[in-house]
Amino acid sequence: MLARLPAARRFVHRFVAGERAEDALEVIARLNAQGLRCAVTHLGENVATPADAAHAARAYVDVLGEIERRRLSAVPSLKLTHLGLDLGEAVCRANLEAVLARGRASSTLVWIDMESTAYTDRTLGLYARVRPSFPNAACVVQAYLRRTETDVERLIELGATVRLCKGAYREPPELAFPDKRQVDANYARLMDRFFAADAQARGVYVGVATHDERLIAQARDAGRAKGIARDRFEIQMLYGIRSALHGRITADGLRLRVLVPYGEDWYGYFMRRLAERPANLIFFLRHLLRR
Ligand SMILES: Cc1cc2nc3c(=O)[nH]c(=O)nc-3n(C[C@H](O)[C@H](O)[C@H](O)COP(=O)(O)OP(=O)(O)OC[C@H]3O[C@@H](n4cnc5c(N)ncnc54)[C@H](O)[C@@H]3O)c2cc1C
Repeated sequence: MLARLPAARRFVHRFVAGERAEDALEVIARLNAQGLRCAVTHLGENVATPADAAHAARAYVDVLGEIERRRLSAVPSLKLTHLGLDLGEAVCRANLEAVLARGRASSTLVWIDMESTAYTDRTLGLYARVRPSFPNAACVVQAYLRRTETDVERLIELGATVRLCKGAYREPPELAFPDKRQVDANYARLMDRFFAADAQARGVYVGVATHDERLIAQARDAGRAKGIARDRFEIQMLYGIRSALHGRITADGLRLRVLVPYGEDWYGYFMRRLAERPANLIFFLRHLLRR
């Protein structure tokens, strides 16, 4: 129903570039022209067949080719369940390595998104296994998980390239902090840990992925106070969310990357964006009713 209603589609396009790779490439070109780096996600998760998983990997390889051909600045950000993690690690790993190999050929990072806790161990495990051959692999940790403090220490030992986000899935209180203030405080603590001298000396590069102004300011201030070069960390935001902050962040001299999602399978991503902010849902329903 959502896909058929023109008013609904317009609202979806606030967060999703479009259904085709071309739509994402056009948005990326526009953002690059504003001095912003990008990440690109071909939407999809939990594929059911090896053919679908291979198709997803192929889409990333193709989009990397187009990014290079058009001289755009964008790196893939992908989900392992889109590459077949539910079908076994071997299927997923072969697909991931195909994308990583294409990325390595053009010196491009590949971010491996973090999904629900059903996948945390498998995702971090696979990341650690591919990293020796693919230093262009980057991973993600979620500040809402109680376990993340321990995961972060392991990633620091590896000198990893890591995105720190708050976390977007529904998790039980034994696994995730139920209170938003606890999540925010944990985020601030983990960010400090990545900025610590020993982590930086090991080569850690952190993507501070949040739209939370207070945390972005904290990253800026910590970077300055600790003398961390501007090219040793970046702020990351999602397409369509708090774009009014972009100018201020870059004016502060910070690197900013905007993640641009595209694809026909936008439903799960779109629902997570609505769920994060009840105001979005109210706005969306009003928008539909008005039409
Ligand atoms: C680049 C990037 C990559 C991500 N990758 C992952 C991942 O791999 N795994 C994962 O679990 N999560 C991922 N996330 C999502 C993340 O975990 C959060 O769910 C999401 O970023 C919202 O949290 P926040 O840090 O912006 O803080 P919040 O405290 O939720 O939001 C701060 C402010 O940002 C604005 N805002 C936040 N979300 C929205 C929204 N949906 N619509 C409108 N305004 C909004 C509001 O003004 C809000 O007050 C990613 C986020 C980013 C930016």
